[in-house]
Amino acid sequence: MLRNGLRVTVVGGGIGGLSTALLLSRIGAQVTMVERVPKPGAAGVAIALYPNGLAVLYGLGLRERLHERAFAVRRGMYSLNGRVVLDIAFPDFGHGLDHVLALTRSALHQVLYDATRRSRHIDARFGHEVIGMADGRLHIRGPTGVAYQLRHDLVVGADGVHSTVRAAAGFAARRVGSPSIALRALVLGEGFGQTAIGEHWSRLGIAIAAPLGDGTSYLALGASRGPLKTALQCRDLPALRRLAGTMLPGADRALGAADRDLLITPVQEVRCARWSTDNLVLLGDAAHAMTPHLGQGASSTLLDAAALAAELSREQPSDLAIARYVARRKPAATRVQNGSRMHALVSERFTGPGLRQLRDTTIRLAGRLPLPKEPLLRSILQEDPAQTFTSVRHLGPVSEGD
Ligand SMILES: Cc1cc2nc3c(=O)[nH]c(=O)nc-3n(C[C@H](O)[C@H](O)[C@H](O)COP(=O)(O)OP(=O)(O)OC[C@H]3O[C@@H](n4cnc5c(N)ncnc54)[C@H](O)[C@@H]3O)c2cc1C
Repeated sequence: MLRNGLRVTVVGGGIGGLSTALLLSRIGAQVTMVERVPKPGAAGVAIALYPNGLAVLYGLGLRERLHERAFAVRRGMYSLNGRVVLDIAFPDFGHGLDHVLALTRSALHQVLYDATRRSRHIDARFGHEVIGMADGRLHIRGPTGVAYQLRHDLVVGADGVHSTVRAAAGFAARRVGSPSIALRALVLGEGFGQTAIGEHWSRLGIAIAAPLGDGTSYLALGASRGPLKTALQCRDLPALRRLAGTMLPGADRALGAADRDLLITPVQEVRCARWSTDNLVLLGDAAHAMTPHLGQGASSTLLDAAALAAELSREQPSDLAIARYVARRKPAATRVQNGSRMHALVSERFTGPGLRQLRDTTIRLAGRLPLPKEPLLRSILQEDPAQTFTSVRHLGPVSEGD
């Protein structure tokens, strides 16, 4: 069902905001998207999108554009202290959803932003910041500093970990700092990413690498304790290079070449008791920011956006649609958030010899046993990617140019 005339304000122009604007425009809603940064940009360095998130983007008709500057990772490779313990092809979930896509965040944001510009249903306002909410209206400060209010039927808070919408509406939410600190770096040349592709665990923490399909590679490090965490906290680049080199051959040189494109951030979670109230609903990091260890933050955000659009497109009042969206997404996202925290614990905190040996032996044995890996992957992906693809495809017409 088309929701012509439904006026929606989407707060935030990140992956969640841009994809929500696109999906809601497909069902005929009139969307105003407000983003505080002056120009479409990208926080972070690079990203890996799993088949669940890709199902949303490919369902929106963005596959070709995304693949112009991205690398399709077709095997999941894990090493433990320098020895490969798992190397398996990703299963084919249908509709060509048989890979993880690694790309720079700027490339992803550009593809999403270009698609919003093709829709006459989307008014994307950059440099506009939501500063509060009163009497059901959003208070916004525009680029010239002048404040104004917006009327709407529905507000979607896609404004990230520090969500203003969440704070203004008084959701019972907590931001929880994780012990983990992450480093993300863009490395010139694809060679390093090609040779080191995969996830590498060691006694110091984890390292992840992949080529990005645009002549650069991605290197990420994560640590929750020990010398790597100290080096990250102090931004001690010589120590970081030395330690990275012991975790992954070539990572020391790669980091040396990436000084300028290097981001070190603490990891935070958002635990939110409610996701909606009246005509206001949260999605993405504003609702469920998680540790990055399962690579599911952005893909879960894309699933939220697709589920919200699908529920609103059914013949039912908006409040019922929102209740169904929350019932569908909150338990799934919370499960993955918990799983990601557990992954962080096992990969980064079992650094003492006893626990680490027990962990490593268990993982090696599990890697050798002919256990089916697909059910575990499916539970992390939350929804069947093929069904998500079809559901997004059927939301409405594909925009011109897709
Ligand atoms: C180290 C690290 C690595 C990660 N790697 C991956 C990965 O490989 N794969 C993956 O799927 N996920 C990954 N994630 C998670 C992923 O980055 C997030 O889950 C995703 O970006 C969430 O998108 P979002 O749109 O909800 O929030 P955000 O990306 O935070 O976007 C929120 C937007 O709202 C805007 N905003 C905020 N307040 C206001 C306001 N008051 N008014 C107007 N605009 C406002 C902000 O400027 C921002 O643009 C990683 C996270 C971290 C920390």
